Amino acid sequence: MTTSSDVIDDAPKATDTAAPSATLGGEQKRSIEQITLLLFITVPFLALLAAVPLAWGWGVSWLDLGLLVFFYYLGCHGITIGFHRHFTHGSFKARRPLKIALAVAGSMAVEGPLVRWVADHRRHHKFSDHEGDPHSPWRYGETVPALMKGLWWAHVGWMFDEEQTPQDKYAPDLIKDPALRAVSRQFVLWTAVSLALPALIGGLVTMSWWGAFTGFFWGSLVRVALLHHVTWSINSICHAVGKRPFKSRDRSGNVWWLAVLSCGESWHNLHHADPTSARHGVERGQLDSSARIIRWFEKLGWAYDVRWPSRSRIDSRRNTGEDGSRRRKETAETA
Ligand SMILES: [Zn+2]
Ligand SMILES: [Zn+2]
Repeated sequence: MTTSSDVIDDAPKATDTAAPSATLGGEQKRSIEQITLLLFITVPFLALLAAVPLAWGWGVSWLDLGLLVFFYYLGCHGITIGFHRHFTHGSFKARRPLKIALAVAGSMAVEGPLVRWVADHRRHHKFSDHEGDPHSPWRYGETVPALMKGLWWAHVGWMFDEEQTPQDKYAPDLIKDPALRAVSRQFVLWTAVSLALPALIGGLVTMSWWGAFTGFFWGSLVRVALLHHVTWSINSICHAVGKRPFKSRDRSGNVWWLAVLSCGESWHNLHHADPTSARHGVERGQLDSSARIIRWFEKLGWAYDVRWPSRSRIDSRRNTGEDGSRRRKETAETA
């Protein structure tokens, strides 16, 4: 059975280690950072809104579309395989070069520094949909207006919260690793690389400034906006709607129509029922590209000790009765 402590157990306790008091990026949200964050959220989103009429007028080249899709899935899998399944939950072990590559690829999704991302997400699992959860859509209550407000909070509002997740408490294992600490601290650099590469490729392939511009528009701005909103939809939509075939202490749901765009993360009910599982889409036909790629890494020998869920483990987590989740909650609290 999975209690909240299982999630954190994968990480060494804060008391085990004298964490260096280095700045990891994003520890304090000063007002300048708040403004930067606001720009990062709104500018790509406006680009996304502008994209539809522009696409009509310009037509989108295959190159721009290719840049969008390539960099979208690079950052998305960096988050899902790297930041989430590997660094947060330890669902597989990675050889050193793969580990660093995953840290960099995830940073290129522009969702904040590695250590902060992992700390926030571990806190989300510890308190999921209860007090202490950094981004529960149920924060304001269960009425329709409260849920509307809560969905907005879970989607983007929480990032502006002054209250910070203590990184030395929630991610001491990452802080201990100098290379990971460095990647986390270089967040601005990886953001710049992530935004510049599509423009550079677009310009070089077409040998024109216009090609660089459209490459930047589609491959950087539109791509980042889309990825942000899909990732945040896991926090908002997947904690408000969806099927709940598995036992979990929260309101996580499986949302099939987000599976392809979210690289398999929208099978979110299974994920909360079994957080360390390397596969989230465990049923036949449940697309989970992240799990597929982890399998390839395993075959190549780059990933090992992968926690593939057995059939019996999956079955033991099924919701059997109406009060299944309530009973579980009580057990978890008394445990
Ligand atoms: Zn969740
Ligand atoms: Zn998780």
